[in-house]
Amino acid sequence: MNSQKKYPQKLSLEFFPPRTPAGVDKLKTVITELGGMAPEYMSVTYGAGGTTQEKTLETVSYIQQHTPFDAAPHLTCIGATHESVLELLNTYEALGIKRIVALRGDLPSGMMDPGEFKYASDLIAFIKQEKGDTFHLEVAAYPETHPQARNCEVGIKWFKHKVEQGADSAITQYFYNVDSYLYFIDNCERHGIDLPIIPGVMPITNYENLVRFSAGCGAEVPRWLKCRLESFEDDKESLLAFGQDVVTEMCQRLLDAGAPGIHFYSMNQTQPTLDIAKSLTFKNA
Ligand code: FAD
Repeated sequence: MNSQKKYPQKLSLEFFPPRTPAGVDKLKTVITELGGMAPEYMSVTYGAGGTTQEKTLETVSYIQQHTPFDAAPHLTCIGATHESVLELLNTYEALGIKRIVALRGDLPSGMMDPGEFKYASDLIAFIKQEKGDTFHLEVAAYPETHPQARNCEVGIKWFKHKVEQGADSAITQYFYNVDSYLYFIDNCERHGIDLPIIPGVMPITNYENLVRFSAGCGAEVPRWLKCRLESFEDDKESLLAFGQDVVTEMCQRLLDAGAPGIHFYSMNQTQPTLDIAKSLTFKNA
C-alpha cells in the first residue's frame, strides 16, 4: 500500500444524468449541497452505446459552465466509432473539460455491433493519439476482479495495459471489504503499477437495489452485511443509520491506510454521501 501514500487525499463525486426536468432540478440542488465538500471534480456517467449521450453532455455542460466545479464526463467506447468519439472529445475540449473517465462499458441488450473499440485500453490509446495530454484520464479498477476476467492475475495484467496506454489515475468499482482494496493495491505494486487508485464508495440506502446492482457488476456484498441489512425489513431509518456507520468506518479505514481519497457514487442524493463525508478525517487536512 506504500505507493498510494504519496498522493494527497481528495474527494470526488459521481452523478448520473437525470432524465426528467424534476430530476434536473433535484440534481442542481444536490450539486450545491455536496459542493460544500470541495470535491476535486464531479463526474457524470454515460450510457454504454451512447444511450445517454445528450443527457450526459447537458449535465456536464451545466457543471462546467454554471458551477465552480470541474466536470469529468464518463466516456464508454463499446458500440462507438472513432469518428463519434472524436466528435465528443472535440466538444468536451471546447467546453474546457480537463478530465475524462475512460471506459469500455457493456453492450446494451439488443445492440449487436461492438463498434470500433474493443476495450477501454483502445479508447485510452485513441484519446492520447488524438488529444495528447489535453485530458487527465481516469480508468476503472476492480479490487474484487472484473466479472469477465478469467482470474485476478489476468485482470491485473489488463489493468496494467490500460495504465501503459496512458491512464493517469483509477477509480475502483465499489466494495465493502477493505482488505480486497488493500490486497489489490499490493498486487498492483508487485506488478509495477504506479498511479493513484481511488476507492469508489457506494453509500447504502436500499437493500434490494444494492443486492441486485451488485450481482450485475460483480461487487460483493459480504454475507454478514447482507444479513444485517435484510433484517431491517421496512425500517428504512435504521437501515440508513446502520449503512452510514458501516460505510463511514470503511472510508476512514481506507483513508488511514493511505488511500488517495474517496470517489462517492452519490446516486444523485445529498444526505447519504454528506453524512459519511463530514465524519471523515484526512491525513492532509
Ligand atoms: P476494460 O478495462 O476494457 O475491461 C473489460 C474486461 O476486459 C475486463 O475483464 C478486462 O480484464 C478485460 N480486458 C481488458 N483488456 C483486454 C484485452 N486487451 N484482451 C482481453 N481482455 C481484456 N459503465 C457505463 O456504461 N457507464 C459509465 O458511466 C460507467 N462508469 C463507471 C465508473 C467506474 C469508476 C467503474 C468502476 C465502472 C463504470 N462503468 C460504467 C462500468 C464499466 O463500463 C463496466 O464494468 C465494464 O464491464 C468494463 O469497463 P472497463 O472500462 O473496466 O473495461
